[in-house]
Amino acid sequence: MENTIVAISTGLNSESGIGIVRMSGNDAVKIADKIFISKDGKKVYEYNSHTIHYGWIKENNKIIDEVLLLLMFAPKTYTKEDVVEISAHGGITVLKKILELCIKNGAQLAQPGEFTKRAFLNGRIDLIQAEAVCDIIRAKTEQSLEFSLQQLKGNLSNKLNNIKNKLLDLIAHLELNLDYPDDENIEIISSEKLHTGIKSLIYDINNLVNTAYKGKIYREGVNISIIGKPNVGKSSLLNYLLAQERAIVTDIPGTTRDIISETFNLKGIPVTIMDTAGIRIHYSDFIEKIAADRTKQVFEKSQIIIFIIDLSTGINDEDINIIDFIKGSSKKILVVLNKLDLISNKENIDKIKSKISLFLNKNITEFVITSIIKLQGLEELTDKLYQLILKNVLISQDQQEDVVITNFRHEQNLLKCIQNLEIALDMVIKKQPLEIISISMHSALNALDEIIGKTTPDEILNRIFSQFCVGK
Ligand code: GDP
Repeated sequence: MENTIVAISTGLNSESGIGIVRMSGNDAVKIADKIFISKDGKKVYEYNSHTIHYGWIKENNKIIDEVLLLLMFAPKTYTKEDVVEISAHGGITVLKKILELCIKNGAQLAQPGEFTKRAFLNGRIDLIQAEAVCDIIRAKTEQSLEFSLQQLKGNLSNKLNNIKNKLLDLIAHLELNLDYPDDENIEIISSEKLHTGIKSLIYDINNLVNTAYKGKIYREGVNISIIGKPNVGKSSLLNYLLAQERAIVTDIPGTTRDIISETFNLKGIPVTIMDTAGIRIHYSDFIEKIAADRTKQVFEKSQIIIFIIDLSTGINDEDINIIDFIKGSSKKILVVLNKLDLISNKENIDKIKSKISLFLNKNITEFVITSIIKLQGLEELTDKLYQLILKNVLISQDQQEDVVITNFRHEQNLLKCIQNLEIALDMVIKKQPLEIISISMHSALNALDEIIGKTTPDEILNRIFSQFCVGK
């Protein structure tokens, strides 16, 4: 790249022990030499690559900070360009001052994601790996971090390249036939060979697409809301799940007036759980009505509903009201039968269960019996919640767990690839000419190349990198 870019690469939000200003580009070393005075008196360009040096950042002989300078000459660097990193003290004023000095001496302020974009444009990583960098920074749980690290290592890229090579073999064979129709030395591609080849590609790509739901769940998490009439134990459950006292627990009905939302980590899945006011038939006052309206909004945003029933009161009109509200939706429902400690006649439990099952027969429904106050049934509750979240995950037996599609863009392009392969397959079956089969095969190839970043249009590239933070 022509210009040299600079940014503060560490977080700007809080004071920290150290902060790093990073420069990349042809002039990085020249600019560093203008602002850095080393203790041993040498100039930066005199040092060997990948070495660290102690010294000071100075402006007109005034010391700005005491720093360590890390020097890395191209090409073995993050961007494949000359890179200089200045580790200074973490205060924002100091870091901004150093940044300003670099800019004054010829560097340009980096755009979000520009370092990683250069790594991509200079061919060090492919687009999938570049996106993984962004995902690593944003990972909410260890599991989603693990998926992104696998992606950065190139596992998904390798898998896609294998698929791409199979597709290329087919296209090459097909085109040889097209280019040299009369050459006896070239094996004529049979429609059986094309048929099996394309089918096996569709199978492979489908397996990958099937991991997307799981990937999305681990990356973006799920929204869950707790629903139930007043006083059934919603806040108590929320408290348990968050393992911290955020919701106010009280035994006056209808006091949970605001939606409290918190995210917690359920076996690697970020679960955002929303506690809501109960839906009631008779609104005791205006505020409760507003809270109940908000309950409906929360409900719309949730993929899973935890519906709590109080075993000590049994199902009453208020519960039926809620059941009416949720039964028309396609949401998965975990029914919690709470306050087990308060009932002596356990036979009622089965009756309540079958009544609810009857109402909610269209939804995926699980039951769990608890006494939240006595901490009974709560492990089973979290297990069932986890299973319910993953219920749609179809992963075939031979699917390797380490390759998981976590990115919407990848998923869309894989689907586009399958679509074109299916068109090609249909044409093979209908014995259409090779010329037009080849067109669909090329479209399929294009969709794959777009994922890896070979043929990705600039506007998509810009959109991808603009999601990064500055300095990465
Ligand atoms: P919410 O109105 O649905 O949010 O209900 P809360 O969580 O505020 O609970 C209402 C009352 O029921 C509180 O006094 C809780 O301590 C109590 N409670 C919650 N779970 C249980 C339980 O399993 N057994 C008993 N006996 N009381 C419970």
